[in-house]
Amino acid sequence: MTGQQNMLKMMSLKHLLVISLALNVGLISRVMEVSREEKHVKKVKDAAGSKTVSYSSFLPTSTAAPAAQDDGSIINLDHGDPTMYERYWQQMGDRTTVVISGWQLISYFSDVRNICWFLESAFANAIVRLHKQVGNAVTEGRHIVVGTGSTQLYQAVLYALCPENASEPMSVVSAAPFYSSYPLMTDFLKSGLYKWAGDAYKFSKDEPYIELVTSPNNPDGASRVAVVNRKQGILVHDLAYYWPQYTPISFPADHDIMLFTFSKSTGHAGTRLGWALVKDEEVAKRMTKYIELNTIGVSKDSQIRAAKILNHVADSIEHGPESKRSNNFFEFGYNLMALRWAQLRAAVHRSDLFSLPSFPSGTCRFSGHHFKPQPAFAWLKCERDIEDCESFLRCHKILTRGGKHFGVGPEYVRISMMARDEIFDRFTDRLSMINS
Ligand code: PMP
Repeated sequence: MTGQQNMLKMMSLKHLLVISLALNVGLISRVMEVSREEKHVKKVKDAAGSKTVSYSSFLPTSTAAPAAQDDGSIINLDHGDPTMYERYWQQMGDRTTVVISGWQLISYFSDVRNICWFLESAFANAIVRLHKQVGNAVTEGRHIVVGTGSTQLYQAVLYALCPENASEPMSVVSAAPFYSSYPLMTDFLKSGLYKWAGDAYKFSKDEPYIELVTSPNNPDGASRVAVVNRKQGILVHDLAYYWPQYTPISFPADHDIMLFTFSKSTGHAGTRLGWALVKDEEVAKRMTKYIELNTIGVSKDSQIRAAKILNHVADSIEHGPESKRSNNFFEFGYNLMALRWAQLRAAVHRSDLFSLPSFPSGTCRFSGHHFKPQPAFAWLKCERDIEDCESFLRCHKILTRGGKHFGVGPEYVRISMMARDEIFDRFTDRLSMINS
């Protein structure tokens, strides 16, 4: 071997050494990061279990026993079905049981003096009481319109905001990534009044438009404000997730049209109720008209049940956000979401193929907790050369909703964080086992 060859060999050995050192340092820091995340999961569990009044009875059974073996079956986290709340309501036993006799609630009408004449006053009172306690929305000077889910209110509000005699349908936009149902609901009936015009960031027409501002946003959990900001725009604020289990409540929202849903506040999606807080009387009248023509009102049985449940939530926090009562609904939700996000972040770090958004922390004016948003959905990005994250996860029998439904690329998926404990635990276990 010549001197030159020896030299080259030495150099490549040196290179190898440097590369392997770099890889090891990366590996070691990764292992440390994972172990930090796992310690964090433990800390969240311990914190929840050792409150002055114990919330441990609310913690998932998996904190007491090791997670069940993954049987390889399909894990469906496509829909935002809020079944994680079932355990809380089971533990409340009969406290929210409602009995309705056959003769009750027969009439179409609830209160003919109200603009929304099918709104049950018990439901309206409970809504106002809860918003006041939580401090997440101004109710003074607002008309309440009830809908069969916030989904019906969405259609009602589009109808209400569009002039009847316009020559062109009004454009409806929302900043991408937007809630996947907006385009579908907007164009479903091919209305002559309005049409879906896509990503608000790309909207450049000089004409009237409706902008949907979803905050916190579905799918990515971001706090949002309007992005188009032109004179001819009307804003609709969808505040489905502006509750203290998901995000710090920083101010009482004070917009012209605000939509809320029973599904994501207490978890009762099946009751199919939502409510709109509307400043303008004409808009409230037209929304009511839409619902009158669409379904001649909204189930009274549902409203009575919802009033009972919302009042229970209000009772559970009655003694202030620091309420030491063990049935504090928002503490339950807050602790469970904190635990799940810690679990998910640990799994993501372990697997090395995915990333999640990061959020700034804030202090919640309701609970006093200083925390980072812990949204109802995880907006997961597949890294490396995985182009279609939804298909990739489907190969691992994890069903999610891909980015294209939300107006962005296929490298993203939305994952529901609201499934039952055993499903969520199985999901994070499986995700952490997926590696390159
Ligand atoms: N808006 C947003 C942002 C949502 O996420 C949802 C539920 N997925 C809705 C509205 C509709 O809720 P509801 O169940 O009340 O129809």
